[in-house]
Parts: sequence; C-alpha cells; structure tokens
Amino acid sequence: MKLLITGGCGFIGSNFIIDQIKFSKNEIINYDNITYAGNKANLKIVEKNSRYTFIKGDICDNNLVKKTLLKTEPDAIIHFAAESHVDRSINEPNSFIKTNIYGTAILLEESMKYLKLKNKSFDSFRFIHVSTDEVFGSLGKKGFFKETSHYNPSSPYSATKASSDHLARAWFKTYKFPTIVTNCSNNYGPYQFPEKLIPLTIANCFDEKELPVYGKGDNVRDWLYVYDHCKALELILLFGKAGESYNIGSNNEISNIEIINTICKIMDSLRPLKRSKKYRDLIKFVPDRPGHDYRYAIDSTKIKDELGWKPQENFKTGIVKTINWYIKNEIWWRKIQNNKYNQERLGLIND
Ligand code: NAD
Repeated sequence: MKLLITGGCGFIGSNFIIDQIKFSKNEIINYDNITYAGNKANLKIVEKNSRYTFIKGDICDNNLVKKTLLKTEPDAIIHFAAESHVDRSINEPNSFIKTNIYGTAILLEESMKYLKLKNKSFDSFRFIHVSTDEVFGSLGKKGFFKETSHYNPSSPYSATKASSDHLARAWFKTYKFPTIVTNCSNNYGPYQFPEKLIPLTIANCFDEKELPVYGKGDNVRDWLYVYDHCKALELILLFGKAGESYNIGSNNEISNIEIINTICKIMDSLRPLKRSKKYRDLIKFVPDRPGHDYRYAIDSTKIKDELGWKPQENFKTGIVKTINWYIKNEIWWRKIQNNKYNQERLGLIND
C-alpha cells in the first residue's frame, strides 16, 4: 500500500513510519510542516529508504494537499498532524483551532475530491483519523470510556480534537467517505518531545532540576506504549470497518505522582546521584492546570475482540525501555532542549 502520513515528524507518526519501513512493504509519504514539535531527525534511519518520501507542507494549505494527493495517489491516509500539547492550547488556542479543525476539514475534502477525480473507489480507501480519549472528558474513580461514551472535552486541545472527530464521522455519514476514528490514551516511548510528562521528568532527572507535578499528582492516565499504538493502527488500517471508531488503551492506569516516583526509582538504579541523594527529592508540587481532567481509562474490548489487537508492553516493561532509550539518545533530546525557540516551552509540564 501507499500511505500518506500527516504529522510523521512528530512523536507517534515517526514511530509509526519507522515501524512500517522496517516491518512492512508499504510505501510512505510523510507530509509535515515541521512545527516546533516536528523533527526530521526522528526519521534519520529511514530517510534514505526508497519507500520513504518527505513532503514539507501544511495540512491547511489546500492547494499543496490537493497537489500531493494527485501526484502520490495514496491508498490510505493516516492523519496524525495536530497541535497536541494541552498546556499550550490553554495559552494560545488559535493554532489548535486552525490545524486540528480546519486542517482536518481540508484533508477530508481534498482526499474525497482526489478519489473522485482519479475514479478510485471509496471502498478500498481508508482515512484513519488519529484522536484522543480526552474528547470524552473526565472520569470519576470508576468506569471506562467506550466507543459510545459521550463527548465532553475540557481543554481547547480536546475540544478541537472532538470537532475533528465529528468532521471525520460526518464525512462518512454524509458522503460515505471511508473514515475511521481512533481514540487512544496517553502514549509514551521513544521520540516524544520533552515537554510531555515522561520525557520531561527523565530530562530533568539528568540535569538534577525540579520535577514539577500538577496539584497533588493524583490525576490518572491509562498509559499506552507507542509501538502498541502503532500496531493497533496497522490492524485498523488493514481490517477496520469504515465509519467505525476504535478505542485503544492498555489498562495501565497510573497517577502522575506514581509515574514520577517510578521514573525516580529507575533513575536511582541506573544513574545514582552523589552523596546518597534521591531523585524523588527533586519533586515539586505546582498549582494545578485549569480544567485538569481527573481520570482517563479506556475500554479496548472492541479492538481486541474484532481485530485481535493485544498490547505487548505493560507499564513496568515499557517505562524501562523508554528510560533506556532517553539515556542512549541524550544527543537527540539535548538538541531539542538547546534550540532557543524551544527553551521557553520546556518549562511546561503535561500528561
Ligand atoms: P506531536 O505534537 O508530537 O506531532 C505532531 C506533528 O504534526 C509534528 O510533526 C508537527 O510538525 C505536525 N504538524 C502540526 N501541525 C501541522 C500542520 N498544520 N500541517 C502539517 N503538519 C503539522 O503529536 P503526537 O504526540 O505524535 O500525536 C499525534 C496525533 O495523535 C495527534 O493527532 C494527537 O492528537 C494524537 N494523540 C496523541 C497522544 C499522545 O499521547 N501523544 C494521545 C492521544 C492522541
């Protein structure tokens, strides 16, 4: 298959592309405008592969989107491109509204036009819209998000993702354009921009800097190792039903403070501090984020039963792999940290 990946220079997109180039025969066109979160260096190991092409472009640029589709004639689009950082959406929502809503609408419209112009059947095409469990809002201590849960987004980020999910569904209902929406929980793993909770905590441990924790740190997320997410997306691409949505999570509900304590313990054993100091001494509780959702938890029964997906990593194994990756790839995240433009952003924390 020929896959057009939007946002392939970001965290999940680059893991997906590397996995596809390594383990499939698919051809990949990566369409990304390299915002602060996009990093071409993530794809260094595949950039010379003849099955990989990079196109620098904005999903809001309908002329370039049209030209790219007509020229490359993909069999499917996997749409990762988004503004993805919740904290930033609180301070500057406009870019979220533009990319996440308007950009998704352009992609839907132009890909439908491309199929019609080239006389391609809708049935054999797929538009996978990668979204988040945050569209469902906050859970209390009990319960899980199902595909049928009501939408109730809290932040500008999740509100824009909710809007784009509705657009993708509307294109199926109205035009029979074969969209599939995926709603996954928090991802972690290699190549995550170090403004997000896990890589930020690891990087701050390296530098013996404060480890900021929102509120009491009791917000719970259902952590998903990024390769498990990539494998779920591949199954959805191959066997998912148009018009459906699939929840993806791996039953790893952990509070933010537990995450930070776990990272501190592992760092204590891998890179012990001098003078019997412990990394957890660096923890600093800071005022909570406005509108901070308490708990997310995913019911993944549908993708497990219908498509046979099963996560390979639990949090204990996945976090050790992740920390080891950041230790081995210090040069990768130091370059991001040392970029002047990024420096003010890296004071932010997020889950
Ligand atoms: P990311 O912020 O790491 O990467 C986003 C990528 O999109 C970057 O490469 C950026 O350059 C590109 N991009 C942004 N605006 C663009 C535009 N207008 N045109 C073209 N490219 C543009 O994001 P991520 O963490 O890899 O997330 C990928 C997708 O998965 C997003 O849609 C996000 O909402 C969703 N998601 C992420 C998580 C998570 O934990 N990271 C969880 C659930 C859902």
